[in-house]
Amino acid sequence: MKRLAIVVPCYNEEPVLRETAAQLTNLLKDLTQRGKISPKSFILFVNDGSTDRTWELIQEEFERSPFVYALNLAANVGHQNALLAGLSSVQDLCNVTITIDADLQDDIGVMEEMIDQYEAGADIVYGVRKERKTDTFFKRFTAQSFYKVMALLGVKTVYNHADYRLMSARAVRQLMQYGERNLFLRGIVPLIGYPSAKVYYARKARTAGESKYPLKKMLSFAFEGITSFSIKPITMVMMAGIAILFCTVLAFIYILASYFTGHTVSGWASIMTSIWFLGGMQLVAIGIVGEYVGKTYMEVKQRPRFNVETFLTHDQFDNNDSSEK
Ligand code: UDP
Ligand code: MG
Repeated sequence: MKRLAIVVPCYNEEPVLRETAAQLTNLLKDLTQRGKISPKSFILFVNDGSTDRTWELIQEEFERSPFVYALNLAANVGHQNALLAGLSSVQDLCNVTITIDADLQDDIGVMEEMIDQYEAGADIVYGVRKERKTDTFFKRFTAQSFYKVMALLGVKTVYNHADYRLMSARAVRQLMQYGERNLFLRGIVPLIGYPSAKVYYARKARTAGESKYPLKKMLSFAFEGITSFSIKPITMVMMAGIAILFCTVLAFIYILASYFTGHTVSGWASIMTSIWFLGGMQLVAIGIVGEYVGKTYMEVKQRPRFNVETFLTHDQFDNNDSSEK
């Protein structure tokens, strides 16, 4: 029977943690009783450098329940790296993983369907939102524009899929081979290329606590996602440059022609405008190129993507589990 690990990144999730632990534990118990998964399945809470009592709560849950494992990161590394830390810690302890946000906005009811898909041969099962009724218009609009822009720039992502997904242990091991620091899992996971499937669910509103993705973070996440996966923006800059050059040639021909026909060019305004325009274009172009240079700089440093402080498991005395795979 397959051992399942549910990985839950938590950053300042004090208000929801208990409820989340209770719901996930019930689900595990239910799935275990019905023989869907091994009784050694567990939930791993990853504390991503929270500044509230999240880690204390996680430890309490760990003491109380044999289903709960706990990972404490030494500092806040962000949602994506926290997920990676969790997955890398459990990859040898389980056969299959499911990642889900701590706020349980994603329907845990479809986990069973994910496992069925896995049994049917999929290494990766994407949780896809059917609708976004509970999101505000703004969140819905920005999120959907994001998926569309990504597609336009040639980045393959699964439409309306966030980080709620099942991955087999071998898919996780493969994921660990992607060494980039600018982590955008939604873009990387489809690149792994193992058989995949989708399950659909309705996304709920956050039960408590606040979204950790305010507009500023959302924009920078989108920008990261694009510049980590596509160099089309650089090509666009070059295209814009060529277009402007072409216009300049036309303008030059026009000026020459008006010289011969006796019409003199009047006004500095037009010249000034074009100078400002070209100056602006150049700054944008340098900025975009600089963004990629900066990314390269961050990547070549090869810094660790997360630092584990504590890893609490109930596994200490039965390290043979990984042989079940
Ligand atoms: N999260 C994290 N580190 C961070 C920010 C967020 O581990 O620096 C976690 C957070 O606890 C939650 C998940 O990432 O489990 C998604 O965050 P949130 O629900 O705030 O995002 P939203 O659903 O609003 O996009
Ligand atoms: Mg959320």
